[in-house]
Amino acid sequence: RAFVRMTGVGHRYDPTPGSPMAVQGIDLDIHRHEFVAVVGPSGCGKSTLLRMVSGLLIPSDGEVSVFGKQVNGPRDDVGIVFQKPTLLPWLTVRKNVLFPLKHKFGRYGAADEKRADELLAMAGLEAFAEKMPDELSGGMQQRVGIVRALLLNPDILLMDEPFSALDAMTREQIGFDLLKIWDENPKTVLFITHSISEAVLLADRVLVMSKRPGSVLDLIEVDLPRP
Ligand code: ADP
Ligand code: ADP
Repeated sequence: RAFVRMTGVGHRYDPTPGSPMAVQGIDLDIHRHEFVAVVGPSGCGKSTLLRMVSGLLIPSDGEVSVFGKQVNGPRDDVGIVFQKPTLLPWLTVRKNVLFPLKHKFGRYGAADEKRADELLAMAGLEAFAEKMPDELSGGMQQRVGIVRALLLNPDILLMDEPFSALDAMTREQIGFDLLKIWDENPKTVLFITHSISEAVLLADRVLVMSKRPGSVLDLIEVDLPRP
């Protein structure tokens, strides 16, 4: 059974009849613990797709459901990682990743701190837990943002071009670090990128969107031996 199901989904931002569709005709199932990457050129509708899964955007056509329930607003079982990690500059790395737990539940415990340290270690950041964000490189900050999202243990993790601000070497290293994390902590992930190599490195399934707004051109099953 699909975790996320999109049927006949389309969206126009301008509700005027006849205005252009940002995306249209999307039918997509995402299964439990599947890592789906969406690639395609700028403007083809990738972020629109992601916003509809998050519930931040309700499509004008068709239906999005999560766990069999129609999505009709923002959901707190969905975690999102954006291009820029927006860490709080006055908190240490460890406190930054624990911050959403505090915000959501009012507090966090020793088990959360242990989990935070484990995830930071998996992301290669164990030596940086007590540092301030501005002491870290951009790539490290982005990893902190991912650890922060994972610590809330969302049922679905959405990532919108999380590495596009980073150089190629850093992206590759983060990619390998993430593979280690997914292996130990499988997650249902929808990952947007315009890098085919990143998609192929990380995903179980790659969805290619075309420049023509919304038309899903192809679905490539990727079954590569992981490094
Ligand atoms: P991508 O993420 O692939 O770059 P987007 O989903 O951001 O594509 O955009 C798809 C289309 O929808 C584009 O034509 C874009 O201009 C349009 N669009 C995106 N966001 C908005 C918005 N908030 N209001 C109006 N049009 C938008
Ligand atoms: P994790 O991603 O942490 O490994 P799971 O993928 O096993 O966790 O499940 C994520 C959450 O989704 C769990 O809280 C589970 O109860 C919930 N869940 C799974 N399937 C359904 C379903 N069909 N309807 C409602 N909730 C579901």
